[in-house]
Amino acid sequence: MITKITVAKGDGIGPEIMDATLEIILAAGSKIEIEEIEVGEKVYLAGNTSGIAKESWDIIRRNKVFLKAPITTPQGGGYKSLNVTTRKFLGLYSNVRPCMSLHPFIKTKHPIMDIVIVRENEEDLYAGIEHQQTDEVIQCLKLISRPGCEKIVRYAFEYAKQYGRKKVTCFSKDNIMKQTDGLFHSVFDEIAKEYPEIENEHWIVDIGAAKLADTPEEFDVIVMPNLYGDILSDVAAQITGSVGLAGSANIGEECAMFEAIHGSAPPIACQNIANPSGLLQGAVMMLNHIGETAVAEKVQNAWLKTLEDGMHTNDIFKEGNSKQKVGTKEFAQAVIANLGNKPSTLKAVSYANGSALNLPKYKRKPAAKKELVGVDLFVHWTGTSPDELASLVNKIELDHSKLSMITNRGIKVYPDGFPETFCTDHWRYRIKPTDGNDISKTDIIQLLSNAEANNMDIIKTENLYAFDGKPAFSLGQGQ
Ligand code: NAD
Repeated sequence: MITKITVAKGDGIGPEIMDATLEIILAAGSKIEIEEIEVGEKVYLAGNTSGIAKESWDIIRRNKVFLKAPITTPQGGGYKSLNVTTRKFLGLYSNVRPCMSLHPFIKTKHPIMDIVIVRENEEDLYAGIEHQQTDEVIQCLKLISRPGCEKIVRYAFEYAKQYGRKKVTCFSKDNIMKQTDGLFHSVFDEIAKEYPEIENEHWIVDIGAAKLADTPEEFDVIVMPNLYGDILSDVAAQITGSVGLAGSANIGEECAMFEAIHGSAPPIACQNIANPSGLLQGAVMMLNHIGETAVAEKVQNAWLKTLEDGMHTNDIFKEGNSKQKVGTKEFAQAVIANLGNKPSTLKAVSYANGSALNLPKYKRKPAAKKELVGVDLFVHWTGTSPDELASLVNKIELDHSKLSMITNRGIKVYPDGFPETFCTDHWRYRIKPTDGNDISKTDIIQLLSNAEANNMDIIKTENLYAFDGKPAFSLGQGQ
């Protein structure tokens, strides 16, 4: 069966590594039909700030499978990263990045390493919602959703099940971000119970990352929110020997995009020295996804054999380890010559169960009882004394709702603050109803008009809610 796919050659090293990749998979017998689109630098510089034309979206959505080479995002000028936009527009919630050592053929400090990072791909700080609110402070919103957590955690466990992996580890920072990362961690614990045959564990991301860089052999599948996954999958790929070795699958319910994890590497573009392995690894995942598992297996085994033969591009070439330094094109020819061969020392792969995972659709949970229990008012104020600010707030308080604390960048400075605490021009009043009273949205509007009448520069409000009676907001640090 022929599968039509969309291909974008990108820029920088993109066109060379895409040509090499396509040549290999077509030589291996893939039945793909290619529809090429132009994305990236040229499109950006022609005045399209998203880096892609509308007709190209139509093609991507029609074909549903997208093989994409890296793209250069021009710095400044309001250009949005096309990679992030594509993942989000197409709902590609799962980013799968296998990172494996190929010892003793590729030099690495970690001879035993075979991990898969499953990175949440649509939310977290990558929501891209940033605002400057005062002269001194800018905010970036971190959004974590229950569907986002459930989908990615389930994907990680299903992936582990399909590929016979033994353990799924969760990385989060819920000792600090108790609400957002706390949700990620608790959903992990919930879903892990559905997979008793797979071991599960949780690490706080900082010590987890240190452990990963030191003893990667202790990990198997690791699932994490977007930002940690972005950073740690580069670390993981690099410590296998080169960031140029790892591929990435971006999977959604309808569409999927496959790529290398690295970028367009402009300094080494057009010199026939880039390693096409990362994109080839992405293409192998694509072949599995479209059901061409036999071709995927043939390509992967030929690739392993080529690396085993010591045919190495510049990034992985080491005197003593490697036999011949080859260019991008020559590497591709060596892989093609090895099609049908298997590695003898490295483990040959078998993708008998390799095809796309079919996960159940997310089902919305019944709504909780949501209760307004207070409000945070954020203020731009250039004074320095929290006591003075507290006296100003007395002018806007209502009879039945009072100031409960003031924070500056999250740390409580009133009541009982420390004079040592450094304060910026970005303050927060927390207003709560007095005992036995409620607070309503009309009260919040009244608070805002009182603030306006008193020349207080309120830059935003944040409602405080309890869900099913449980407060669902963080305390002030030091509260
Ligand atoms: P990069 O990954 O492009 O390159 C960093 C360095 O890693 C290169 O200079 C090179 O020395 C090495 N390297 C990367 N890929 C290699 C390969 N295949 N073979 C050999 N060596 C390789 O990172 P960067 O320099 O930070 O980013 C360059 C551009 O790529 C930026 O515009 C960035 O926005 C973009 N980018 C795109 C993607 C994507 O399209 N998915 C991902 C990351 C970065």
